[in-house]
Amino acid sequence: MAAYVDSYYRDTQRVSLSNTEPLHGTHRADVCVVGGGVTGSAAALHLAERGYRVKLLEAQRIGWGASGRSGGQIMPGFGTDLKVIANAVGTAGAQQAWEMSREAVRLTAELVERHDIPCDLKWGAVHAALKPRHLREFQAWQREMAEVYGYHGLHWLDREALHERVRSNAYIGGLHEPEAGHLHPLNYTLGVAAAAQRAGAEIHEGSAVTGLERGSPARVTTAEGRVDADFVVLAGNAYLGGDLEPALRGRIMPVSNYIIATEPLTEHQVANTLPYDDAVSDANFVLDYYRLSADRRLLYGGQVSYNGREPRRLRERMEAKLARVFPVLEGIHVTHRWGGRVGITLNRAPHFGRVGSNVYFAQGYSGQGMALAGLAGRLLAEAIGGQAERFDLLSRLRHQRFPGGERLRTPLLVLATNFYRMRDLI
Ligand SMILES: Cc1cc2nc3c(=O)[nH]c(=O)nc-3n(C[C@H](O)[C@H](O)[C@H](O)COP(=O)(O)OP(=O)(O)OC[C@H]3O[C@@H](n4cnc5c(N)ncnc54)[C@H](O)[C@@H]3O)c2cc1C
Repeated sequence: MAAYVDSYYRDTQRVSLSNTEPLHGTHRADVCVVGGGVTGSAAALHLAERGYRVKLLEAQRIGWGASGRSGGQIMPGFGTDLKVIANAVGTAGAQQAWEMSREAVRLTAELVERHDIPCDLKWGAVHAALKPRHLREFQAWQREMAEVYGYHGLHWLDREALHERVRSNAYIGGLHEPEAGHLHPLNYTLGVAAAAQRAGAEIHEGSAVTGLERGSPARVTTAEGRVDADFVVLAGNAYLGGDLEPALRGRIMPVSNYIIATEPLTEHQVANTLPYDDAVSDANFVLDYYRLSADRRLLYGGQVSYNGREPRRLRERMEAKLARVFPVLEGIHVTHRWGGRVGITLNRAPHFGRVGSNVYFAQGYSGQGMALAGLAGRLLAEAIGGQAERFDLLSRLRHQRFPGGERLRTPLLVLATNFYRMRDLI
């Protein structure tokens, strides 16, 4: 079992679990959940609360994947434009999906409160424009959200108002979204898993699932154990790999994303960077995002890699970005850097569905999964409980395989992304 990556989150972990020894022997469960990020932990919680006997198998440790490494930004919406969703499920379907994404944010807050999870949840986010094209896109977005979706939660910030919230000269305006926020993602994920344990779910860490035989019951195997279950939930997302369930192969692409953490900022530095403690993301396709931690470090994310290897001179490049956005932080000491895999789909919409009648999955949130994965857990539990309408709405979003097969899909994605990166520069 691998240790947590050397991240700021690992060093500030405040939630621990009990009884998570690896699976041994043969077991029977109503539902076997594969993967212990937010998706799997929330599914285990909601299923256990409905009275199902749940076994959750996690290859490494709870929150070891994207969930325990993320930027921690909690946003309504999806990794794609709502137009993509409307094209697939119609305007009424997209409206319902949008409201579900807002529910995902509320659900996050409810779970934090109900289970008393010490994850430093804060509200407020800023979408920052770097160039006039971004401002025009924000204007169109704000108008569409108000007119089509009745959402009035995006507040216009002119250059001065933005500068008041984000003390950087890099931006020319933007939007403030009070309904969005940020939290400590590892403590949150562990807190949801601990709540699942209290509700009766059994969690086994260090239990990589190596085999899945469909059937009734389905058979899930690890190196030293087996679970026969009426239902299986696949929640391995970008870490699942293509071998366990061929039907999912090639539908998501793992892209690595990186974050640095600075030493704690002084009060003067906070006042001259993020005095309102907002989560910030810029409007580039390959975007930069950042926020303050509870102990006032700047957590700055943004570099990507498509081959899983850390980009060359990552630290220097991230430090240079940071200094460009906040010259006041030039030379600040960087204490941590880490990366994790984001599961992206070709159209950046989430990928929900079933294989056969009793293997369910939710994955591919395309960079915006911290809140949605919690909702996915609720929707998976609803669907397994026989109320599948909401799960099925998202399952109607169809997903193509990445072109090029296993060998060529990465170079093709790099080519496509390079196009958008070039666009980010103009
Ligand atoms: C650096 C980074 C920054 C991000 N920032 C944000 C952000 O600010 N806001 C946001 O909304 N989203 C963000 N995301 C995305 C977000 O973290 C993910 O969408 C979300 O955490 C996905 O949760 P998950 O449970 O589906 O997957 P994961 O958290 O990846 O969990 C999958 C788990 O399954 C396990 N697993 C895989 N295969 C097996 C197997 N065969 N057997 C047993 N276990 C298995 C893995 O070990 C892993 O722990 C970020 C992601 C990264 C990497």
